[in-house]
Amino acid sequence: MTQPYNHTAIIGAGIAGLACARALAAAGRQAILFDKARGPGGRMSSRRLPEATLDLGAQFLSVRDATFAAAVEEWHAADCLAEWPTSLWSAAEDGWHRHRDDLRRLCGTPSMSAVTRHLAEGFELHAGTRIERLEGDPRSWWLVDAEGGRHGPFTQVVLAIPAPQARALVAPHDTTLAEACAAVIQRPCWAAWVMFDTPLPALPGVDDDWQAVRLADPALRFAVRNHLKPGRGDQGESLTLLANLEWSETRLEDGPETIAEALLDAFQRGLPGDVALPEPSAMGAHRWRYAQPDVFATGEAINVDYRLSRNGLALCGDGWRGPRIEDAWLSGHHLGDALTGGSPAT
Ligand SMILES: Cc1cc2nc3c(=O)[nH]c(=O)nc-3n(C[C@H](O)[C@H](O)[C@H](O)COP(=O)(O)OP(=O)(O)OC[C@H]3O[C@@H](n4cnc5c(N)ncnc54)[C@H](O)[C@@H]3O)c2cc1C
Repeated sequence: MTQPYNHTAIIGAGIAGLACARALAAAGRQAILFDKARGPGGRMSSRRLPEATLDLGAQFLSVRDATFAAAVEEWHAADCLAEWPTSLWSAAEDGWHRHRDDLRRLCGTPSMSAVTRHLAEGFELHAGTRIERLEGDPRSWWLVDAEGGRHGPFTQVVLAIPAPQARALVAPHDTTLAEACAAVIQRPCWAAWVMFDTPLPALPGVDDDWQAVRLADPALRFAVRNHLKPGRGDQGESLTLLANLEWSETRLEDGPETIAEALLDAFQRGLPGDVALPEPSAMGAHRWRYAQPDVFATGEAINVDYRLSRNGLALCGDGWRGPRIEDAWLSGHHLGDALTGGSPAT
């Protein structure tokens, strides 16, 4: 397929790729997105089962940066975000305690992917298209997908994908970018879901409508009641259980059923008092191989949260800044600014 010359290709329609596309569009530059998944979202995507919609990746976004806060206001006004959790707890030896701080947290409604679907509106997105190879010369790039389809030529290619995956694509063309990717470690995380036909029992000392809890278990770090997120009133009791990264590393090749059972056991152990959970009606787990960056890219005089090469290749995403949605968005947004001559904020 031949596209008009001079366009930008963005590989990865997660929040970073979409932020970059939006920043380019705001400056009048066109971008075409490619994603191997069925739709946009990446680690903000949600799983749709007949009985429920489950967030198995990011559970909420938190807001620290003023530029990000302005973008969040727009998404909020577009009704794809709502304040959540409003009932957040932390587990301790002596029971669960309500967690309070001043941080603003919001989740997508009716699912996390509502935000990325909103951001993808108006863009040409080639979903279900895994890019396996880059070909061509600097400033005249072709993208080759898993079916052998060729897309291009493009003067600029943005790789908004986890650094280990970006490394494989840039290595034949740019050793500096490949080395930068090698310095970013993205750690895995198992995410389990468990559904129940009956509501969870009341927990001593905890509000009945508790929404999420941080746990200090070696296996389990966070449990969320999916059905109590805004916009999901029509689904039954369902939990998302996020594993610790260290634990996930040691159980990487286990089957999803084993993982779901282990995380449900950990949740049961973390309940206050002597409370027994009802029998689950269904459960499963998803493995995120590149869930969270651990070592953020460092390097001489690099104080920006993206990488940009003169040959028309560029990298953005959470690995270049930090482990949150906000970081990924800022990385993509700053790269978009830099590509259109705006000031690359640090
Ligand atoms: C379990 C879990 C829980 C989390 N919880 C939170 C949270 O509560 N709050 C928070 O702020 N952050 C959280 N995060 C982190 C947050 O989700 C990420 O930082 C953010 O979504 C990363 O966005 P991104 O655009 O950089 O990458 P991604 O979302 O990974 O997007 C990359 C996209 O590239 C596509 N892709 C990859 N390779 C190719 C290829 N070769 N060709 C085509 N497409 C390709 C993928 O399909 C994907 O859509 C969590 C992450 C996980 C995994």
